This record gives sequence, structure tokens and C-alpha cells, in this order.
Amino acid sequence: MGKLDALWQYQQAELALDALENKVKATPARAKLNKLHSFLTEQQAQISSIQKQMDARQAALAKLSAQFEELAHKYELEVSEFAAMENDPECTAAEMTESRKALEALQDQLGLAKRDIFDTFHWVEKTTADYKDRFTKAGHAKKDYDAARIACEEELAAAQPEIDAARAEAEKQKALVEPALLTRYAAVKTHHTVPMATVENNQCSGCRMSLPTVVVKKVASGTGPVECENCGRILYTPRA
Ligand SMILES: [Zn+2]
Repeated sequence: MGKLDALWQYQQAELALDALENKVKATPARAKLNKLHSFLTEQQAQISSIQKQMDARQAALAKLSAQFEELAHKYELEVSEFAAMENDPECTAAEMTESRKALEALQDQLGLAKRDIFDTFHWVEKTTADYKDRFTKAGHAKKDYDAARIACEEELAAAQPEIDAARAEAEKQKALVEPALLTRYAAVKTHHTVPMATVENNQCSGCRMSLPTVVVKKVASGTGPVECENCGRILYTPRA
């Protein structure tokens, strides 16, 4: 067996291992798990954003209530002042008008403050319902997620012996390859998932580029690694 044959065997063993590992990652249970994970992450972000908005609105509500109390107090004072003026014979019509204007202005401010409080209250109520709804949905999703995770763990446990065997085989094949060749293989692997390509009809099977006869012959001789000039894969001619 030539040294490239050993490398080829190693690549086949490694591809078999990759295929087994990818199979476990591509099951319906895993797809469900990934989908639920994204959903939960999104919901958690939304929930924490709602919490922040709620805190801000609650603080605003407290402030609005305090303002309202203050205005109401001012209004009461103004009302009793107006009543006193009405009973005061020395009070002029101009003074009465001014006091009435002040009362009206306060009434307007109270009306606005009341509306602000009502709007904020309404928002808090609506948002609380939305929050509860999201929380419930996230709770259900979390249950589904946990179930999917267990299913995935079971699938992995079931596949594990086969994966372990494939890994052991890959390690065994790896040990038979010259270290220098392995280094080269690893370097090509950074660009290509499958670093070796066979020569078929004088073409590189990796990129379909036609190869010069001298290259084809050199590869066939199996004397040393030859990389495809176009894609850089290590060329290989399987032994008949
Ligand atoms: Zn190529």
C-alpha cells in the first residue's frame, strides 16, 4: 500500500465519521430543538424588554399621580379662596375674574393629568396581559424544548457506539499515515471539506479541471503528493 493509499483510507474513515455526526445533528428532533431554542431566546429578549418598559411606565405613573395630587390640592385652595372672595364685599369684579381664570386653568391641568394617568394605566394593563401571554407561551415552549432535548440526547446515546467505532477507525487509519502527509492534508482541509480528489478521465474530480498528462502520470505512480493546480486538493488515483 502506498502512502497516498493510507491517506485515502484515512479520509474515507474521517468522512464516514463526519457523516454519522452530521446525521445526529440533522434529525427532526434536533431541528425542533433548534427552532424552539430560537423561539425561547426571542421570547426572553421580548420579556426582558417589556419588563424594562413596565418599570419605566410604573415610575412615570407614580410621578403623574404625585403631580395630580399637587394640582388637586392647589385647586382646593383656589376654590376656598374664591368662596371667601364671593363673601367679601371689598373684593372687586376684576379680582373675581382673575380667580375664576386661575380655577379654570387648574381644571384644564387636572383634566390633562387625569388623561395621562388613564392612558398610562391603560398601557400598563394591556402590556401586563401581553406579558402574561408571552410568559405562558414561553413556559409551554420550554416544556417542548426540554422534551426535544431529551429526545436528542437519546438519539445521540443510541448513535454513540457507532460514532465511537467510526472515530476509533479514523484514529487507526490516521496512525498509518506519514506525519508530513497529514500536515498537508490538514492544510488543504482548511479550504476543502474533502481534501483529496481522485483523477477521473484526466480531470480532478474535485473541480473538474483537466490535468496535464505529466501530472496524471505522477499521481498514478503514487510516489508523492500532487495537488491540483486549480483547487489545491491532493490528487489520488485509486489502485485497480
Ligand atoms: Zn481540482
